[in-house]
Amino acid sequence: MTLYHFDTLPIHPQPEPLESLSSYLTRLAEANGLRRRQNLFRLCFPTEHYRSTYLTGDFPPPSFGYLASLAHCPEPALLATTFYHLACKFDRSPNPTALAQCLSGSLSPHLRYCPSCLHERGYYPLIWRFLSLTGCPEHRCYLLDGCGHCGQRIPLLPSTPKLGYCPACGGDLRRSQTKQIEPSRLAQVSNRSQDLVYLVQPQPGEWAQAGLTQVIGQRFSQWRQIRRLKISHIASILEVSPATIYYLEEGTTHRTTKLRWYLEYAAVLGVSLRDIFRSSAPKLSPQSPEQKVLTKIRDGVAIVKQQQKVITRRAVLDLIGIDNSSIFTMSPTIRAIWTEIKEQERDQSEQKLLDLAQQAIDHLRQQGQAVSLKAVANLISCSAETLHKSHPPVYELVLQHRDTPLGSRRPVPGRPKYRREAELMTRVQATIIALEREGVRLSQEAIAKRMGRTSTGLKCYPQIKILLQAYDGSPTRQDETILLKKVQTALAQLEANEAPITIKAVSQAVGFSASTLKYYPQVRAFLIEHILEKKQAHRTKQRQRREAELVKRVQQAIATVQAGDGRLTQRLICELVGMSSVGLKRYPQVKRLLGQLLHPDRVGPLWSE
Ligand SMILES: [Zn+2]
Ligand SMILES: [Zn+2]
Repeated sequence: MTLYHFDTLPIHPQPEPLESLSSYLTRLAEANGLRRRQNLFRLCFPTEHYRSTYLTGDFPPPSFGYLASLAHCPEPALLATTFYHLACKFDRSPNPTALAQCLSGSLSPHLRYCPSCLHERGYYPLIWRFLSLTGCPEHRCYLLDGCGHCGQRIPLLPSTPKLGYCPACGGDLRRSQTKQIEPSRLAQVSNRSQDLVYLVQPQPGEWAQAGLTQVIGQRFSQWRQIRRLKISHIASILEVSPATIYYLEEGTTHRTTKLRWYLEYAAVLGVSLRDIFRSSAPKLSPQSPEQKVLTKIRDGVAIVKQQQKVITRRAVLDLIGIDNSSIFTMSPTIRAIWTEIKEQERDQSEQKLLDLAQQAIDHLRQQGQAVSLKAVANLISCSAETLHKSHPPVYELVLQHRDTPLGSRRPVPGRPKYRREAELMTRVQATIIALEREGVRLSQEAIAKRMGRTSTGLKCYPQIKILLQAYDGSPTRQDETILLKKVQTALAQLEANEAPITIKAVSQAVGFSASTLKYYPQVRAFLIEHILEKKQAHRTKQRQRREAELVKRVQQAIATVQAGDGRLTQRLICELVGMSSVGLKRYPQVKRLLGQLLHPDRVGPLWSE
């Protein structure tokens, strides 16, 4: 029997920070050449039916099906693209129905967007879903809630996924015109945006705080009293009953309290919701161990910096007296903070090095010496290779200033450099032949890697540079057509052998690695659609077989009952067949058969399809 399944999709983009699930699924489908949303759903949830409603609405689904493994994306990262962490903060069940109730009136059912953000980021952030966010603080413009060209509303995850385009008119949403926010309203929009970012992102210890809603309610009450406002006053502004505000402050019937009331109440008080949360959290978990470690790490970094030492994990941990470096792998928050620290550090040292290099160049000029990579590297006590490998901006700076730019030096035959080039050329050619024979996809990087060199290094030699140009990574149309033919042959072969048809099997048969597919969009799309079609056909066939078998069993059951002189009822047949009547009636032929036998007088509208 032939099996059709995917172990993995060929391309796995990961969710971007704050990205919504619908946006991520759109990108995933697009990257893998899946032209229809349904195809992605069929891959992820071959047996489930709930799929579209939850996934297209960014709610956490009861299960992510095969999505995590197909996309190589851990479930926590997928959950972060939904309203899951919002539910945790308000002590709600992440059950989509309950969550939808808490969020009713807060969310837009279709896409709202900032054209400039879309242009710069290339995805839809989850916070655009909130109607209470009217604009983008970064670009100081209002969010649009329809296509800027034809005015149509845009589905969050259209049946033909294409990020940044209007499914109705095909217009580019990034080119939509939008209105500027008045300066007086900017602070309010910015505050709201930060609140929402805080709410949808994971925060340390957010689950462990049962009873948090009570504490938050108390905070609201305290702020209201500081502002000398009455419950009835707040209620009239929010257009709810005073009892609603009372219960919100009590935190008692919070399960019916809507999120938008919290946001609006905070706005009336002029405080940010994230401040209320932050000031409420320590009451319940005075010092979360994670936060303690974080504070220690930040202190440690400051001290190491003061001592003018290199900031390494070891140095910081030694200083703060923690001897287990696994805390970095245990907590994603600590890891993220550490990466941030290291990045800042790198930017700073890079700037320092850039200044030093500039000084070195000036110095060489003043001395009337030639500016070369080696000379500059010597002056700043660093090897030319380190500059090239670890400090590209500095390397670029020196290249711009050096007196003998690349390619201007003509190697003279007989001189060492010329000989070295001729020698290297032979090795490059031999490597290309070897790689071709092994069926490895030829690229400059692959060739250089095999030779234990860098492609930039190889391209310093003018003749080799010309040779390598042919392998700059972009497959030609001809390459793709050839590969497509090979793939078609391999598919036919696999089918003839009744072997399982997977991307891996096909790539092995053709002799390329599955990851190579990303360079061949047409082949990739063809392969995926082909496998999906086969899978569908296979399922239909299986169903037909099962139906035929059931018809036979029902007929047998009927014969048994009639032979035994019993009364022919639906329940009796179901019992004999061992299936529920609902299950049986899913098969049209069985349904018709039952109808004809049990209600011969009613054949017609009731039982017909
Ligand atoms: Zn923006
Ligand atoms: Zn449009």
